[in-house]
Amino acid sequence: MNRSLKIKNFQYNRDNREILPQMPLFEEIKILKKTQIKIQTAISYAFEENSYIISLDNGSECVIVDPGIAPEQLLEILCKQNLTPVVMLITHGHYDHIGGIFAVREVWPECQIWTSEPEAKKLVDPNLNLSAVFGFPQVAPAADKILDASEEFTIAGLDFQAIHIPGHSSGHLVFALQEPKHLNIFVGDTIFAGSIGRGDFPDGDSDLLIDSIKSKLLTLPDNTILYPGHGEKTTVGHEKRYNPWIK
Ligand SMILES: [Zn+2]
Repeated sequence: MNRSLKIKNFQYNRDNREILPQMPLFEEIKILKKTQIKIQTAISYAFEENSYIISLDNGSECVIVDPGIAPEQLLEILCKQNLTPVVMLITHGHYDHIGGIFAVREVWPECQIWTSEPEAKKLVDPNLNLSAVFGFPQVAPAADKILDASEEFTIAGLDFQAIHIPGHSSGHLVFALQEPKHLNIFVGDTIFAGSIGRGDFPDGDSDLLIDSIKSKLLTLPDNTILYPGHGEKTTVGHEKRYNPWIK
């Protein structure tokens, strides 16, 4: 769609008042309105894990990326805004990212859980999800759908693509969501503003993490927004310049 051309048409029409704006202009406004995406952050305390709520601006359904271990803020936002979560996308199965799944399921039993195969195993195993190591073994419900390493899918009117970034956790997925002018990526515990995820867990590998970040994330446009599992959001351009771990 050539937007500048249509805006030019509109100005032309406005200056020549006998000619009304053409239909395509209205159609375009409708399309642009439809593609407004709302991304909200709920913080799950103790580990300050970020849960993301993604919806179309005018939508009643939403997608959750990683309900945290204490999802009170997440549930409050969903209830206050009357949003129905249809899928929980799980970047990886560490317990601080999955502890809130049961609470979401209690309110919305239909809400599905999607993740990769290695991470799906962590959901139901307290040793693999590391909760047992920290002295409070817990599990989440089993995954409803196993995502492939670069699977594309649409939920709640939103087009996502999974990208496999191993190293912090062997099956770690990040989720890319295109907006008209930039790409958003929900990066879990792969990269943070000024830092990267730990690579010393049983199925972790720091070198692989750094390689994967460099080859699959830092090759994306500089204005790509990265939404990490902990801390502030950042951009590819900023991390390329300032992140000391990936120099
Ligand atoms: Zn983690």
